[in-house]
Amino acid sequence: MRELRCRDLRFDCDGVVRANGEEGVLQRAAEHARDVHHVEQFPPEQVHEIRAQVRDGADGNPAARGA
Ligand SMILES: [Zn+2]
Repeated sequence: MRELRCRDLRFDCDGVVRANGEEGVLQRAAEHARDVHHVEQFPPEQVHEIRAQVRDGADGNPAARGA
């Protein structure tokens, strides 16, 4: 399980999206951004930056959560 914190995308938001793989996380993040933040689409130049923020989720290594 991988996850992405919306806050890591510089939104003032406690939302977290989770999926089994990075692609799934990106897709859910895009849906979340569209539904909640009215962001139609992440700009391509931002996508690699977003990928870098995807981390192991709750059932992974707790140390990776970086709280
Ligand atoms: Zn959000």
